[in-house]
Amino acid sequence: MAAKNTSDFTGRCLCGAVAFRAARDRDHADACHCGQCRRWSGNFWASVNVPSASLKFESGEDSLRWFRSSDLVRRGFCKKCGSALFWHADRHKDHAHRIAIALGALDEPTGVKITEHIFVADKGDYYDINDGLPQKQTY
Ligand SMILES: [Zn+2]
Repeated sequence: MAAKNTSDFTGRCLCGAVAFRAARDRDHADACHCGQCRRWSGNFWASVNVPSASLKFESGEDSLRWFRSSDLVRRGFCKKCGSALFWHADRHKDHAHRIAIALGALDEPTGVKITEHIFVADKGDYYDINDGLPQKQTY
């Protein structure tokens, strides 16, 4: 059995301008199928949740831009290459202390697995979800 990975998550955008690290306090992740996440990411949005206070930038914080996608939520991306990196309910009193990082931006081995699908009622019509994982109507 592999040793439990307790090191920080590290990752970067496609062009490498934005590089970051964050504390790892869970090994599970989810895939969000809502229409906003699909338009923003180009498909469903797979992410892992970390303590927002632990997110540190090793470079390129000045290349990070935030798009406010709703009253409560902002989405972070690289202004140079457009990589979708972060989802943050920064104005939500109960959730602002967590931030979601795109699984695809993480360095491997990521040490995480997708364990559930959320907002499946909004999923695209161009794919099926048939991996046997739990499917939730909301989150
Ligand atoms: Zn970039």
